[in-house]
Amino acid sequence: VPAFGRFPSAQYLVIQNRHILIDCGEGAQIQMQRFQVPLNKIDYIFISHLHGDHYLGLMGLLFSMHLQKRTQKLHLYSPAGLDEIITLQLRLSKSILNYTIAYTCFDPEEQTVLFHDDAIQVTTIPLWHKLPCAGFLFEEKRKPFKIEKHKLPEGMLIQHIVRMKSGHDVFDEEGHLLYKYEDYTLPPQRSYRYAYCSDTAYYEQIVPQISGVDLLYHEATFMENESDKATDTLHSTVKQAAMIAQMAKPVKLLIGHFSARYRELEPLLLEALPHFPNTELAIEGTTFTLEE
Ligand SMILES: [Zn+2]
Ligand SMILES: [Zn+2]
Repeated sequence: VPAFGRFPSAQYLVIQNRHILIDCGEGAQIQMQRFQVPLNKIDYIFISHLHGDHYLGLMGLLFSMHLQKRTQKLHLYSPAGLDEIITLQLRLSKSILNYTIAYTCFDPEEQTVLFHDDAIQVTTIPLWHKLPCAGFLFEEKRKPFKIEKHKLPEGMLIQHIVRMKSGHDVFDEEGHLLYKYEDYTLPPQRSYRYAYCSDTAYYEQIVPQISGVDLLYHEATFMENESDKATDTLHSTVKQAAMIAQMAKPVKLLIGHFSARYRELEPLLLEALPHFPNTELAIEGTTFTLEE
């Protein structure tokens, strides 16, 4: 439940001009206004599971997009059932949205590529929870080599530049080397990976998939002295989240989804640090940036 100024789960992710919402707990759009997230730029929404604290903010958001005269298609990825929930609410309120929702239902128990284009790929991370639940792995594909413009000979053809950007040498029709890409390019920028591990009990099976990510979000609902509660509810303790990080070796661990029983979060952070030093709290309104 919302507590001490904290809201249920919702994260806004921008990768190379793609605007993505991950989970949409109650109050998400209020928070988006507060932190100036551009509602109508969001084209992709990924919902991890159908516990209310991960999707109850969605209906309000969808109506606001309608009222803001959105027309572009919205892509919604979730376990089965969310399409029914939305359709029912629209039908009973006799509402027809200005825009189309493209639903993709996935099986949270299978590791599935949900989305990919020329720059990114999104794959589900099967988790262990009371309801079927999946996290999401967001990966940038290899970026183009950077052309060093001042080195290009005059009149070089565009197709030759395009070829070198993809890391290939250029040959003439007889197969003679014309340009070596290394002479005209700098190596690509790093490609980043972000793993969002929504509600889950301690589940080592996720480690190979998230190994070495740049940023790992893992839920940490309880402190160690409430580990019985974590076991009963199939959530994780702070220590368990940090142990997963210890094995997966992300650059940074973010912990969140804190129980409403905790007013102060500093003790939770202190419980994580001995096990995984580069840990931060996922606090409302905080931005984490991955770049060189
Ligand atoms: Zn849950
Ligand atoms: Zn939850």
